[in-house]
Amino acid sequence: MIKAITGTKDILPDEIQKWLFFEKLVREEMAFYNYQEIRTPVFEETALFARSIGEATDIVSKEMYTFIDRSEVSITLKPEMTASVVRAFIEHSLGKKQGLNKLFYISPMFRQERPQAGRLRQFHQIGVEAIGSANPVLDAEMIIIAFKILERLGLKNLSVKINSLGIPESREKYKLLLANYLQKYFEELSDDSKKRFHTNILRIFDSKDERDIQLMKNAPLLLEHLDNNSLLHFEQVRSILTNLKLPYEIEPKLVRGLDYYTHTTFEIISNSIGSQSALCGGGRYDLLIEQLGGEPTPGVGFAAGIERILLACENEKLLNLSPKIIDIYIIRLEKELFTKIYEISHQLREQGLSIEIDYLDRSVKAQMREANKLNAKYVIIIGGNEYKNNNFILKNMSNGEEKLFSADKIFELENIINE
Ligand code: AMP
Repeated sequence: MIKAITGTKDILPDEIQKWLFFEKLVREEMAFYNYQEIRTPVFEETALFARSIGEATDIVSKEMYTFIDRSEVSITLKPEMTASVVRAFIEHSLGKKQGLNKLFYISPMFRQERPQAGRLRQFHQIGVEAIGSANPVLDAEMIIIAFKILERLGLKNLSVKINSLGIPESREKYKLLLANYLQKYFEELSDDSKKRFHTNILRIFDSKDERDIQLMKNAPLLLEHLDNNSLLHFEQVRSILTNLKLPYEIEPKLVRGLDYYTHTTFEIISNSIGSQSALCGGGRYDLLIEQLGGEPTPGVGFAAGIERILLACENEKLLNLSPKIIDIYIIRLEKELFTKIYEISHQLREQGLSIEIDYLDRSVKAQMREANKLNAKYVIIIGGNEYKNNNFILKNMSNGEEKLFSADKIFELENIINE
């Protein structure tokens, strides 16, 4: 038997309600802030991700789904969407149409990671990008929007971690300091960190290896070596968050796994979902647009993983949505009436009612059971002597009350219900 690929998941009908609820909440929140939805293709030229995310990152060096298509082009399924949004921004000259582009997306992403709880190979993200302004208010707005969405779901055990990576000039100087510090301990580093020492030294802060963690405890921190402008930017972001009473902690070791960040980076962590605890992450990327061939344009954004958010909701016993309800279930007493009730159901649906009938030749009892299971508000019973006398029965399922009404009045149900 063919099964779904490891690390991918079917979203079955009994789960979809939560997804739809969440997506609706996101769209609502985006409307409050006037962000517009953008959809980009599922695959892009590989170079887009290699150039933006960075060759030495985990995503590009070992996690991308990359293949050569029949036209000999190297294609990659998108592992994240900021690069695609920026590509679309440049390609369609969105910056010329609007000074500030406020965009959001809801989309599947693909990374060939080792599958484990909270880590899938096809997962889904919502993401927000504000492209066109370096205003620190927007850095804060990303954190505020992300936090508000999680808060509206009722999630409790959240912590917001923020940091600043400054600008490349101060970062390059700092990297020399860090290299100088780590040089002495190079032989004690894990193999991965030895590699990162040469390719992406900041990422050693992300190491889960106990010895690396010990060594990094006394390492110099980038936050203590920022230039004045970067410090000012960071302070402005912080003061907006503080004024709005958004709880946050400064985490000077938060470097994040993508190369394109400048200034603010942030993550929101949940302690309800085990070790893969980041619900969302983001930051400012003022050099990315230029790096991908556009006019120099600042930008900031974040992405949040839907599966992890829904898992946190489940673990915190949230999202107990009321069961789906249908308006009317039509029961037929005789099999021969099927065509007749099918026609009636069609016309009632045209009037905007949700209708279900039996397609499986089930007994009257079984049809009634089904009507209960589907939480039908009303049942219409068609057949028997009543039908011969041109009457139907309407049963109110909440109080069991039954009414006889003339078949000619079937399309005036509202009056009959309110009589
Ligand atoms: P990133 O693009 O790596 O910053 O990830 C942003 C968010 O997407 C994370 O905080 C997670 O919630 C989610 N995410 C990232 N990778 C995965 C994955 N492999 N499986 C499920 N969710 C993920």
